[in-house]
Amino acid sequence: MDIKILPLEEGELKEIPNVNLGFGRHMTNRMFTQKYTPERGWHEATIGPYRPICLDPATVVFHYAQEIFEGTKAYRRPDGHINIFRTWENMKRFNASARRMAMPVVDEEEHLAAIIQLISLDHEWVPSRPGTSLYIRPVMLATEVALGVHSSREYLHFVILSPVGAYFKEGFSPVSVYIEHNYRRAAKGGTGAAKTGGNYAASLLVGEQARARGYSQVLWLDAAEGRYIEEVGAMNICFVYDGKHVVTPPLTGSILPGVTRDSVITLARDLGYTVSEEMIDVYQMLADVESGKITEAFGCGTAAVIAPVGKFGYRDKEYPVNNFEVGPVSRHLYQELTDIQYGRIKDRFNWTYLIEANGAGGR
Ligand SMILES: *Cc1c(COP(=O)(O)O)cnc(C)c1O
Repeated sequence: MDIKILPLEEGELKEIPNVNLGFGRHMTNRMFTQKYTPERGWHEATIGPYRPICLDPATVVFHYAQEIFEGTKAYRRPDGHINIFRTWENMKRFNASARRMAMPVVDEEEHLAAIIQLISLDHEWVPSRPGTSLYIRPVMLATEVALGVHSSREYLHFVILSPVGAYFKEGFSPVSVYIEHNYRRAAKGGTGAAKTGGNYAASLLVGEQARARGYSQVLWLDAAEGRYIEEVGAMNICFVYDGKHVVTPPLTGSILPGVTRDSVITLARDLGYTVSEEMIDVYQMLADVESGKITEAFGCGTAAVIAPVGKFGYRDKEYPVNNFEVGPVSRHLYQELTDIQYGRIKDRFNWTYLIEANGAGGR
């Protein structure tokens, strides 16, 4: 792919923020874009200034939510260079989501090359304070102008970058998770395994209700029986039994196959824990939390990496996990995984790709 690089115009060079980054509030100077039509395929691959997109009010995506996205990160290494972490897995998942949403796939290699080039150009935006990173957000939108319900003929694919702050502001600390018993996130055969905006739209009401109750995350149960544990909506979920056995629900089609989930499974085995993918009954899980058989629970996703659960709430009852303290297994996995991501230890799994801070890439 030949990427056209457009210069930034005066006034388009923003000041790089350094403190109070938050999540997704600041965007870098540049973005990648390309367009799709059936006649030309993907074309006009461009890295240019970060700018608003102008779309007709009758554009398909506004009405029927034909949209997919990804989320991956770049990390500042101690030597000043930059690591991206398993971003090629996100490219594969982007195409899996595209297929499910009847959208055209992109060339995975070219998509990755475009991201690397974009980061190289905006490399100064990768923050270096502890816990900070550069969030990478690829998106594809249906851009045909038509109100009839059908798969769009035209698409826009873009990638934007956002420097983000540490997920845990007061240090690695537990989160409260509300188990939703009424609403469901995704059913088998639905779109739960695709990273598509509609899944999030459908979950916002419950997220608001959980926050009003003092919980920061929602744990979803399966749609058929409302009994088996699925995931936390932007994170997968793991339980630790007796301090040594890690269990997470299997990929049955209604949960998102997380890159962090996969990394945790591989890493935990490597560190000597046993890991299994099993259906987990919510009543059994809560009984195991109460008896102390479950010693820890944690969410895993790109944003937090590992988010230890301090308590579950279910039908007006609270279930503290490990006395609302961070447990040793969560801490161990968090430390090892972030050490690999930031390049503080040797990457024995080949999960990272180094981008030189002067722009040139290479492993
Ligand atoms: C993105 C996402 C995750 C986490 O996936 P990672 O690849 O680990 O970031 C989990 N669940 C849902 C619904 C998601 O959208």
